[in-house]
Amino acid sequence: MKLHTLVVGPIQTNCYIVENEKSGEAAVIDPGGEAKKIIDFIREKRLKISAIIITHGHFDHVGANEKLKAETGAPILVNQADDFLLPLSDSPKADRFLKDGDSITFGDISLKVILTPGHTMGGACLYNEQEKVLFSGDTLFFGTYGRTDLPHSSQAEMMKSLERLLTLPPEVKIYPGHGRPTTIEAEKKRFPYD
Ligand SMILES: [Zn+2]
Repeated sequence: MKLHTLVVGPIQTNCYIVENEKSGEAAVIDPGGEAKKIIDFIREKRLKISAIIITHGHFDHVGANEKLKAETGAPILVNQADDFLLPLSDSPKADRFLKDGDSITFGDISLKVILTPGHTMGGACLYNEQEKVLFSGDTLFFGTYGRTDLPHSSQAEMMKSLERLLTLPPEVKIYPGHGRPTTIEAEKKRFPYD
């Protein structure tokens, strides 16, 4: 598994491209904007995009969905609870819904879906057990967690989701929707946050 991070859009969203080097397939997580930058990268690497995976429906995570889908033909996957948010940001609606415990596979890489409501009710994280990597969207960041004062947020759900994520093995590396990576071990030490 080879991981590429493209920082896109006005809120510096981390768009992750998870590449299977053996098969040339890849998944794009949170194409939040700057479609041209993402598409140029995919073309240059000649990647075949298997899925466009959305950690939650906010505009800064879905802004390039339409152009990326038109370019690659890949399906858009999102938790059903956030599907209504997509058209508000000019994204097509989902082709498939992410369900807790599902696996999205491309070649021999598998990303397991962990639904994490809180920041929005349709939050989803993706976990690669083999390489101990978690894509945490706007649920868990370096030293903090995603906002819960927004229209579709829930602080109580966020706490449940964080507690669940922090049961993952300490060595798991976390790639959040914004900012620098961290680990389960580091965040467990800091939790609960002030
Ligand atoms: Zn968000």
